[in-house]
Amino acid sequence: ILARGRDVCKRNGLLILSVLSVTVGCLLGFFLRTRRLSPQEISYFQFPGELLMRMLKMLILPLVVSSLMSGLASLDAKTSSRLGILTVAYYLWTTFVAVIVGIIMVSIIHPGGAAQKEMTEQSGKPIMSSMLLLSLLISRLVLTHWGVAHQYRTKTTPVVKSPTVASEEAPSRRILIYGVQEENGSRVQNFALDLTPPPEVVYKSEPGTSDGMNVLGIVIFSATMGIMLGRMGDSGAPLVSFCQCLNESVMKIVAVAVWYFPFGIVFLIAGKILEMDNPTTVGKKLGFYAVTVVCGLVVHGLFILPLLYFFITKKNPIVFIRGILQALLIALATSSSSATLPITFKCLLENNHIDRRIARFVLPVGATINMDGTALYEAVAAIFIAQVNNYELDFGQIITISITATAASIGAAGIPQAGLVTMVIVLTSVGLPTDDITLIIAVDWALDRFRTMINVLGDALAAGIMAHVCRKDFAQDTGPEKLLPCET
Ligand code: ASP
Repeated sequence: ILARGRDVCKRNGLLILSVLSVTVGCLLGFFLRTRRLSPQEISYFQFPGELLMRMLKMLILPLVVSSLMSGLASLDAKTSSRLGILTVAYYLWTTFVAVIVGIIMVSIIHPGGAAQKEMTEQSGKPIMSSMLLLSLLISRLVLTHWGVAHQYRTKTTPVVKSPTVASEEAPSRRILIYGVQEENGSRVQNFALDLTPPPEVVYKSEPGTSDGMNVLGIVIFSATMGIMLGRMGDSGAPLVSFCQCLNESVMKIVAVAVWYFPFGIVFLIAGKILEMDNPTTVGKKLGFYAVTVVCGLVVHGLFILPLLYFFITKKNPIVFIRGILQALLIALATSSSSATLPITFKCLLENNHIDRRIARFVLPVGATINMDGTALYEAVAAIFIAQVNNYELDFGQIITISITATAASIGAAGIPQAGLVTMVIVLTSVGLPTDDITLIIAVDWALDRFRTMINVLGDALAAGIMAHVCRKDFAQDTGPEKLLPCET
C-alpha cells in the first residue's frame, strides 16, 4: 500500500500540491483577515502571487503566436478549414446552451425577489434596435478588447440612470465606460485596424502586461500567417520550424515554472481574500444570486459539457477532466483563462494526449472567444438585475438577453472580471440600468473564479471533441511538423 501511495504521489505530485495550495491559501487568507494587516503589508504579502501572474502573462504572446502559426501551417487547407468551421460552430453552440442554462436557473431560483411589474417603457422595444446597439457596442468592445476591465474598475462611472434613457445615452456612456475616445476615424475603421495590428499595438495600453494585449488581433494575424505558411510548402518550412521550436521552448519554460505555481497560488488566493469586502455586507438576494450562478456553472460544467463529450467521443469525461485538473486550479487561482493557457496546453498534451496540432488551434481561439461560464453568468446577472428592479422581461427581451450574453462573452477578454464590463451590453440591450452592475460587484471576484474554470473546461473539452471528430483528417495528414528535429 505504501509503495502504491508513493507511486500515486509521484505521478500526481504537482496536482496534489496545487489542491493543497488552494486550501492553504483560503485558510491563510481568512486567518490573516483577523490580524488586520495594513495595505502595505497586504501588498508585500501579495507579491509571490503577482509574480505567478507575471510569469503566466509573459508566456501568453509567444505561446499564442507560435501555436497558431505552427498549428495551422502543418495542416492542409481542407483540414484547417474543416477544423476551423467545426471549432467555431461548436463554440457558438455551447455558449448559447450555457446562456439557456443560466436563464433556466435564474427563472427557477428567482434570486432577485418575487414581485414583478410590467416594464412598460421597454416592452415594445424591437429586438432589431437592440441588435443594432449591440453591434455598435461589440465593435467598441472588440476595439478595446484587452485592458478595458482595468480602466473600468479604476476610472469610470456608468451614467445611465434609468431604462428610459438607456438607448439615448448609450453612445456617450460607452465612451465613459471604456475610458477611451478615438481621436480620428470611425469605430468601424478602428475596429478593422485593430484586427490587423502593427507591432507597436500588439500591446495596446499597458506595455508589459497581458491587460494591454490585443489578443484578437494577434490571433487573426497568427492564424493568417499560419495558413499562408502552410500553402508555401518547402519555402515556408524554416519559419514553421522556428515556430514549432518556439512553441516547444515555451512549453519547456512552463514545465519548470509549474513547480513555482503551488507556492504562488497560496499567496494569490490569500491575498485576494485579504482584499475583499467584509462578507457580512453581502445581502440575502446577492447570496441567492451567487448560488444561482454557481448552480448554473455546475450544471453546465459538470453535466452538460461532459455528457456532450461522452456522447460525441464515447470516452470517459471524468478521466478527461482529471487530466486538466491542474489547469482548472490555475483558472480558479488566477481568474484568467488566457493566463491559464500554458497550463491547459501542458495538461492536454501530456495527460490527455490530444494531438498538438489540434490543441494549437482550438485552445488559443477558445481562450479568446469561447467563454461558456461568462455567458451563463451574464444572462443570470441581467435577469437578476431585472428581478431586483421588479421588471418583468417579456419573451423578446429574454431572447435579446440570450443573444447579447452570447455576444458579450465572445467580446470579453480572458482576464479577471472582463465579464463585468461586457455586462453593459446585455443590460443596455434590454434597457436595464447599468448602474446596477454595482449590485453584483461585491461577489464578482469570487464568481469570476468559478466562471473562469468553466471557460477553461469548455476550451479543453472542445479540444478533446475536435480531436475525436477530426481524427481521420489528422491520421492522414503528415505535415512538415513530424520531420522536425525539435519535435523528436
Ligand atoms: N475571467 C474570465 C476569464 O478569464 C472572464 C470573465 O468572465 O470575466 O475567462
